[in-house]
Amino acid sequence: MSDAVRKHREFLFPAVAMYYQDPIELVRGEGNYVWDDTGKRYLDAFGGVLTVSIGHANPKVVEAIVAQVKQISHTSTLYASAPQSNLAEKLASIAPGDLKKSFFTSSGTEANETAMNAARVATGRLDIITLRHSYSGRSLQTLAGCGQSGWKKIPLPVAGIKHAHAPYCYRCPFGAKDSSNCSLECANDIEELIQTETGGEIAAFMAETIIGSGGFMVPPPGYFERAVGIARKYGGLFIADEVQTAWGRTGQHWWGIQHWDVKPDIMCSAKGMGNGTPVAMTIATPAVADKFPGITFATFGGNPISMAAARATIEVIEEQSLLENCKVVGAYLGERFQQLKEKHPLIGDARGLGMMQALELVKDRKTKEPAPQAVIAVFEEAKRRGVLLGKGGVWGNVIRTGLMLNAGKPQVDELVEAIDAGLTVAAK
Ligand code: PMP
Repeated sequence: MSDAVRKHREFLFPAVAMYYQDPIELVRGEGNYVWDDTGKRYLDAFGGVLTVSIGHANPKVVEAIVAQVKQISHTSTLYASAPQSNLAEKLASIAPGDLKKSFFTSSGTEANETAMNAARVATGRLDIITLRHSYSGRSLQTLAGCGQSGWKKIPLPVAGIKHAHAPYCYRCPFGAKDSSNCSLECANDIEELIQTETGGEIAAFMAETIIGSGGFMVPPPGYFERAVGIARKYGGLFIADEVQTAWGRTGQHWWGIQHWDVKPDIMCSAKGMGNGTPVAMTIATPAVADKFPGITFATFGGNPISMAAARATIEVIEEQSLLENCKVVGAYLGERFQQLKEKHPLIGDARGLGMMQALELVKDRKTKEPAPQAVIAVFEEAKRRGVLLGKGGVWGNVIRTGLMLNAGKPQVDELVEAIDAGLTVAAK
């Protein structure tokens, strides 16, 4: 056990859990790879936690950060700064619809908290519909928004948050067997929820465009059009939580929501925004942003270092056509996962979009009983082979992968071989 792991166990909250029976201390990262304290190299197939989008230690991002630190490293939102204003202008040009005004913070939690407050103030209403299986943050309001019990172990005195059924096609809560008999009942559920659980009007419908930590559920075609249509019918705004799905991770588009034909009123992101630098954004339409009351302030929000990192990350994605790369390589990964599913009965479902691809493991394909122990076995074997994965799902039975946008087919093959070997071990 490394000294860092020993001290982590002694001096950090035990709730700050680490992956693996024998946790890893990471000391260096470059491109798609990271190294531990013993010098062992791993393919980082989860991109940090979907936080590193264009490769560890990307030279352009590093240079932008260093140049900014040398010039000025903190201004606070009380002063104008070119890095902040220019990034906000850039975001307005790549964000969908009428999203134009940004507020910068340092984490996805703050971004979503801001969005929920903004929606409640702009509409003058309390109720917000979120989704079962979702994750939205660690503050009281965002924790209440989460749809997974594991995160909600502390008392949550937050009123007005209701959870609709998730668009979880593999375990369709309405019994649809496949897309041929799907009538988007999960979206229709929002209407009944509003009619039965609220006063008949809501502040917002808030959803991850692909449910992330819940296990990468990709909503079916038409889902957001129907769900957002219902929310708007009852006066609600649409908040797109793009903390995991932005910056091209789903392939082809900057934002996950662009795979559906709807325009958010508020959109949040963090994680991959600054390629691993703490930075988050809440972008809203002027109609919403202009109603935000009083004065708001974030000490580290809009700090020039994070702004420079985010700007450089966006530039690299544009210069290297990484949205397209993510689409092509992500499709290849999706195909390879479907092939794995044919080979391994442990895989109940293989799903994803772009580089967000997951495998849901079950003990039995008929009963769909979750197989969390199998995930642990795959994790350990993949680690032994030098591949780091992500975990997810309310039952801990989903392997999540998030290769970086600049990964290629060799990284996909390396990832698939490790999981293939892990599943063989897990099946024994
Ligand atoms: N929303 C989603 C969809 C997330 O996945 C996360 C983090 N896992 C958050 C919000 C909260 O982000 P942070 O950890 O940066 O506060």
